[in-house]
Amino acid sequence: MPTPTDIITLGHGGGGRLMHDLIVNELLPASDVMSERDLEDAALIHGGRLAISTDGFTVKPLFFPGGDIGKLAVCGTINDVAMRGARCRWLSIAMIVQEGFALEDLRRIIQSIRAACDADGVHIVTGDTKVVGRAAADGLFITTTGVGERFADPAPSAGAARPGDRVIISGTLGDHGISILAAREELSLAGHIESDCASLLTLTEAMLAAGGPGVRTLRDMTRGGMSAALNEIAISSGVSIEIEEGAVPVRREVRGACELLGMSPFEIANEGKLLAIVAPERADEVLAAMRAHDLGGDAAIIGTVGDGRPGRISARTPLGTSRLIDLPPGELLPRIC
Ligand code: MG
Repeated sequence: MPTPTDIITLGHGGGGRLMHDLIVNELLPASDVMSERDLEDAALIHGGRLAISTDGFTVKPLFFPGGDIGKLAVCGTINDVAMRGARCRWLSIAMIVQEGFALEDLRRIIQSIRAACDADGVHIVTGDTKVVGRAAADGLFITTTGVGERFADPAPSAGAARPGDRVIISGTLGDHGISILAAREELSLAGHIESDCASLLTLTEAMLAAGGPGVRTLRDMTRGGMSAALNEIAISSGVSIEIEEGAVPVRREVRGACELLGMSPFEIANEGKLLAIVAPERADEVLAAMRAHDLGGDAAIIGTVGDGRPGRISARTPLGTSRLIDLPPGELLPRIC
């Protein structure tokens, strides 16, 4: 009998501690990535001129308020490529479809894939489709791989944060995860919550135009939410980070749902929000550029990079106390993206 430590659990896909350990112990040794400090949203290739990223999408339900699996799959990959200061130009799309899937649903998803690509000038240049038996999958899974041309010099990197830098987030946390949960479980939460699913490319371009090399790190806050992004950056850069909890924007409806469900909005996945580490002398310009953009109206400076114990994330609460923010342990919400 395999013990729980010998098998893959849903928690291994959660973007938290279990997934981190799986990547570091089982996957990295078989890859050409040197260490966990080199884990980025996208890898630079071809002498650093191109960035490449790949991502699998298993979200349930396939259609949700604010988007569907097609838009999510395109925007998710555009965003990972954008986090390295690159414009996604070419996309590969692989689909695993369950026997019995409605052609009409597939057409709707393909249309939204096309619309998301057209919005950012992305070309679908290759793909693959497999159909599996009814018990072998659940509806539709999509894997996208994007290749983009780098326009930022140097490329923002998870390893580039330095003590004194400011931490900026682009808007409210938790909208995507809570909207999926509400749609899936048919929860009637107070107020309608839509996914924030969106391409962050033009926001990223505006930030890099305003802050130049002062934009040291960019990370989209997907699985594991803001907590995972902060922890990963602090590990990669060998720094500590202190945030001001009261400065973190969260919608009232999302905060209410989180309290009801016993979850932290800091750990919930977003699909259209990024976290940036910016040099102190450029932080105000970058923040102004973000607030002038459609997707950055609620952008806020929420903290500072420090020179404390590397990897340590602390939050000052509105009560004036301090608490640690760890990598979330496992899976709060499976099949969120
Ligand atoms: Mg990412």
